[in-house]
Parts: sequence; C-alpha cells; structure tokens
Amino acid sequence: MADILLRGGRVIDPARNLDVSADLLLQDGKVARIEPGIAAKDGTKVVDVKGQWVVPGFIDLHCHLREPGQEYKEDVATGTAAAAAGGFTAVCAMPNTVPPNDNRAVTELIVRRAQEVGVVRVYPIGCITQGQKGENLAEMGELQQAGCVAVSDDGKSVMNSEVMRRALEYARGLGLVVIQHAEDVHLSANGPAHEGAVSTRIGLRSQPAAAESGMVARDLELVALTGARYHVAHVSCAETVRLVREAKLRGLPVTCEVTPHHLTITDEACAGYDTSTRVNPPLRSEADVAACRGALADGTIDAIATDHAPHSSVEKDVEFEQAASGMIGLETALPLCLDLIAKNAMSPMAHFARMSTAPAKILGLPGGTLAPGSVADVTVVDPQSTWVCDASRFRSKSRNSPFIGRTMRGRAMLTIVGGNIVFAQEKVLG
Ligand SMILES: [Zn+2]
Repeated sequence: MADILLRGGRVIDPARNLDVSADLLLQDGKVARIEPGIAAKDGTKVVDVKGQWVVPGFIDLHCHLREPGQEYKEDVATGTAAAAAGGFTAVCAMPNTVPPNDNRAVTELIVRRAQEVGVVRVYPIGCITQGQKGENLAEMGELQQAGCVAVSDDGKSVMNSEVMRRALEYARGLGLVVIQHAEDVHLSANGPAHEGAVSTRIGLRSQPAAAESGMVARDLELVALTGARYHVAHVSCAETVRLVREAKLRGLPVTCEVTPHHLTITDEACAGYDTSTRVNPPLRSEADVAACRGALADGTIDAIATDHAPHSSVEKDVEFEQAASGMIGLETALPLCLDLIAKNAMSPMAHFARMSTAPAKILGLPGGTLAPGSVADVTVVDPQSTWVCDASRFRSKSRNSPFIGRTMRGRAMLTIVGGNIVFAQEKVLG
C-alpha cells in the first residue's frame, strides 16, 4: 500500500484536543506524522486538502446492513459503500437480520461477508435474547468470541425487567455493553407518530415520549443494581436526556446516542404523510429536538449514530400507519450534523468527537483518533461544498430518505480505512 500524504488541511483530533494546520502522513496502514511541510518521498500519494478538515474516520454505532435475509433492502457491500461515501470508516451492524444475529453462525457470516465485500470495517452487534423475543438470553459469550462488540435487541425493547437484569449481569461479566432500544411497547402500541399537537392535527395514531423515557428510567434502576455498561440507542426526547444527565451525575456507567434526524427535523415533517419520516422512535417536538441538540453539545449525549434503516418501496409505498419504521442515513449524516456547527451550536472539535472519538471509546474500537501509531482510518471533509441530495446517486440500495432533493452543505471528500482510500469524490485525487 502506498503512503498517503494529506497536504495542507486543518487537522482535528478530538482525542488529543488537537486542531492545527498541518500535513498528515499515513504509512503502512497507520498514522505516521502530523506536521507542517512534510516532504513527499517517491511513491507517496499526495492529496491537496487545503480548505478541508482532516478528522478521524466516523464510526457509526448503529446501522442496519440487512444481511443476512433482507438483501433486497441492503447488503454488506452496498451498506458499507454508503458508509464510505458518508465518511464512515466503521459501522456497527444491528442484529435484527433474518435470521437475527443471536448465534455464532450468523455473526461469522457477517464477519466473513465484511471481509469479502465490505468497504469499511464492520462490527456485528449480537442479540440480547434468543430470536429477539425478550425471553431467554442469547449465548453472549459465544457471540463475543465470534466477533460481536456489543449486544442489543434493537428494533425491539427488552420489556421483561427480570430478563433485562440478567442480561445486564451477564454482559457485565463479559465486559459487553448492553444497547437498549428503549420503548415500552405497551405504551407505544406501535404508534407511528409522536403524541402531541402535530399528531392530533394530522390525525395519526401516536406514542408518547414517556414510552421511551419510562423504559430508560427502569433500565437506569437496573444499571444501578447491576453496575453493567448500558447504552441508550437513538435518544429522542427531553425527558430521556434529563434522565441520562442525572444518571451520569450519579456516576452510573451510561452512554447514549442520537440520530441526525432526531437532531434536525421535528414531527412537523410527518405532516405530509411522507412514509420516509416514519421512524421509531418517532420524530419529536421542537422542544425535544432542542433538548437533544443541547445534550449533544454539553456531552450528555455522547455520540451521533445514524440508525441507517433501509427499506424498499414494498415497506414504504403504503399508508403511513402501515409503513415500516426507519430511514437511511449513512450518506446524509455528515451535512445534517454540520448544520449544528454552522449555527454555532457546536465546535468542529466537539462534533467530530461525537462522530468518531466517543463511539470508538464506547465500544473499545480501533480508531477515533489521529494519534501517531493509530490505525489510518481518516476522513477528509469539505465543510463548504454544497450538493443536492440525489436519490439516484445513493450507494445504498434503498431510497427511504426525507432529505432527497434538499441542498446540503458539507460532504466527505475522501475516506481512508487502514491506509487504503475506499472512497473519493470525483476530482479529489486529480
Ligand atoms: Zn432501534
């Protein structure tokens, strides 16, 4: 592999609080040096990145690659290509595949497919319970040995408190993080919209924010009881933010994530009954979005995760009430979130900490830093480049995004995994 010299960029490494104008040299799959005026040796690939930001590759704690079983929506090849185009160098794959990733064979299949066709690193997440049924624990030790980096029943919540307690105890022994899709399913009753003024006005069945925060409140009691590492998936409401903030003050081992869509659009987006806005948890009120933005800025919310959830027209070209939940997000996450920097709600340093450094730390993954000696997983971002989100250019197999047609500002220009360029915008490489 050729050495790569990224010349003249703004190098931002949140892991070391570093923000400098410098060249960055990648050698043998590792970060070698960050200094101004590094001389290029023969055979070094030099890329001019003036005016651009050089940051640790993004790590997505939460996406759905749909393989095995639903390859008509996405697969490891297309999902990781979408990730690379969005600036992600690693993704964690949620286990609600068909069959679910609740045993070694499925984990090994995903790991093998990632080696064969994966464009970026893929870390499987295993199930908490067998078949995601919420009854009997999955063989977490076996899943971990096969390559799972955490456990979750994502898509479903672990409703039974005693099962959740045992899951936390068991995961604690293994040093695994338990990621909860927090939803009291009796209270949410599969409501497609957020309960509030908008759902009343547009006449959609709805679920209250308490369906999420109530489950988080219960889980936090179980975390206090067990001392296990607990992570809340896709936090969407002010009350959950308040609970997590309090839990952190109590010293509980809790982290959480928020999606770009819960940071940037409200339940008003559902008013046109566009099924791509049906997500779970649902898009919330303006006050909830403001709370999530504030919590992301102050660190209560540790990470940005896409919850990239591809669905085909079969699941989405139906009535809002019948539509499957989820939107794709890997290729739009960066510009949506850069908007927070543009509005001065966050510094670039804090922002890239949430997209890379914190996710790496939460699951103990390589990357998340540009420290010399660390893996050469690097993303080059042009914060000013404007582009129109065009469905025909998605690498993802699916098109369920409410952002199609929107003018975006900021994009990944170059994505490097282990010292290999896995994605480049046209013209970047000359
Ligand atoms: Zn979920």
